[in-house]
Amino acid sequence: IDPPPTVLHAFRAAAARTPGHPALAYFDQRLTYRDTDVLSDSVAGHLAARGVARGDRVAIMLQNSPHFVLALLGAWKAGAVVVPLNPMYKAGEVGHALRDSGARAVICSDRAWDGHVRATAAEAGVPVALTADERGLQTRDDPRVLAFDPVPTEADDLLAVARAGHPAPDGREPTTDDIALISYTSGTSGTPKGALNLHRGIVHNAERQRTGHPVPPGAVYFVLAPLFHITGLVCELAACFVNGGTLALAHRFEPGVVLDAFLEHRPAYTVGPSTAFMALAAHPAATPDHFSSFLVVSSGGAPVPPALVERFRAGFGPYLRNGYGLTECTAPCAAVPPQHEAPVDPVSGTLSVGLPGPDTVVRILDEDGAEVPFGALGEIAVRGPQVVPGYWRLPEATAAAFPDGELRTGDIGFMDEDGWLYVVDRKKDMINASGFKVWPREVEDVLHTHPAVREAAVVGVPDAYRGESVKAYVSLRPGAEVEPAELSAHCARRLAAYKYPREVEILPELPKTTSGKILRRDLRSRK
Ligand code: ATP
Repeated sequence: IDPPPTVLHAFRAAAARTPGHPALAYFDQRLTYRDTDVLSDSVAGHLAARGVARGDRVAIMLQNSPHFVLALLGAWKAGAVVVPLNPMYKAGEVGHALRDSGARAVICSDRAWDGHVRATAAEAGVPVALTADERGLQTRDDPRVLAFDPVPTEADDLLAVARAGHPAPDGREPTTDDIALISYTSGTSGTPKGALNLHRGIVHNAERQRTGHPVPPGAVYFVLAPLFHITGLVCELAACFVNGGTLALAHRFEPGVVLDAFLEHRPAYTVGPSTAFMALAAHPAATPDHFSSFLVVSSGGAPVPPALVERFRAGFGPYLRNGYGLTECTAPCAAVPPQHEAPVDPVSGTLSVGLPGPDTVVRILDEDGAEVPFGALGEIAVRGPQVVPGYWRLPEATAAAFPDGELRTGDIGFMDEDGWLYVVDRKKDMINASGFKVWPREVEDVLHTHPAVREAAVVGVPDAYRGESVKAYVSLRPGAEVEPAELSAHCARRLAAYKYPREVEILPELPKTTSGKILRRDLRSRK
């Protein structure tokens, strides 16, 4: 594939080609490519005038709103490195990211600013702030503004700044080798590390989505994953802009709102975590009509139980396309191409995550770093233009995770003779029951074949006799009823005796990161 140098180049080209085409759709509001370009120029001009220099870090802490996109494009046009932050972060998490990245500006919602960001930004010495009222595209100074109480703040209003008509600064456009993002990993495994995503990696993966999927130019891309996470930013926003599409945004994932938005925007393409599809499939209002406009529905960034793919196809029509990626490879490194369906491994029942992408080499390594034969388990290692050069200011962690520039993912998997990749589980999530290895994913896949189960997570719990034993947490589909013992027996009939969960606990909802990943760590520490 032959991508443009950066997503910004692709965006500008689309703005020149189709200035009147909507770039953004947010409920009943639209912004054309021309307007999005002009407004984000002005944000860039403002940031530059306030002293944000090329390579400075700008933290963006917003939901899936046009404001996020104006902030992102504006910061890139000012030559800045964007630090996307989860809007749910509390003061400690925000403070760590602002200090660690040395942020020069922060862009967040009014509410977060008034809550804890103002004090945190002051403590971290961040001199520039912009705030956004994400409810709509009015500004504070606009007489049509929604009911809004102005608050005295030293932050400027993002939309007012965008409408001020500042020209973008000259000579700041990023090059393909520049750092585009410092992405703090979503933290399912502990302290966040800032992965350095280059413009090259983002545009490579975006272009690969464009060339790999039959989506016509200008189509509607629906953002299901959060834009502050690499999946949303690359597989949705960047993929949309390299194809001159319309990016449809719905603030945050709320299944009923998302289903309505599918009918309003008639999207052709979406990518989200499998937990989002579980929630949509379980929603009482969901019908095949909601999904009838889609050409591509992909699940990325989290394990996909084969039972979900079948449930989705039988209930709603689309084939749920699996894709595997990490923050450290700027979202996907393997995916299921459109002419195929992912095979399921006959022994473990695991659904393949797809084939390695173009210019991407995936190897399976043993403990000594040597390649293992086809079919054998080992750690997944990735080399390619989307692999990041390392972590922000962490030379030791960088050396450990990227020996010789090749990413060691920490995921255990195997590859079959045809090159299909299978992710078995994370190395650190393996359960050791009486010396037997149990991979939680395999047990979760079996739990998902039970009709009452909505979500499932399996963890190891201390056991005086076995060392660890297998425990499952599940949440149920609306209206479903089942006894824990029945779920345990369901697994016992399908799995070796050391694998099935002796204990099953039903919770109303499983704990998740806001990017939709189930937090096994939190379940492990439950008493
Ligand atoms: P942290 O690195 O702090 O633990 P995180 O792992 O959630 O956070 P991400 O980079 O978002 O950060 O997640 C990447 C991980 O998600 C992969 O290493 C893999 O374990 C899992 N994953 C992604 N896609 C798939 C998939 N299709 N099937 C199975 N697992 C997947």
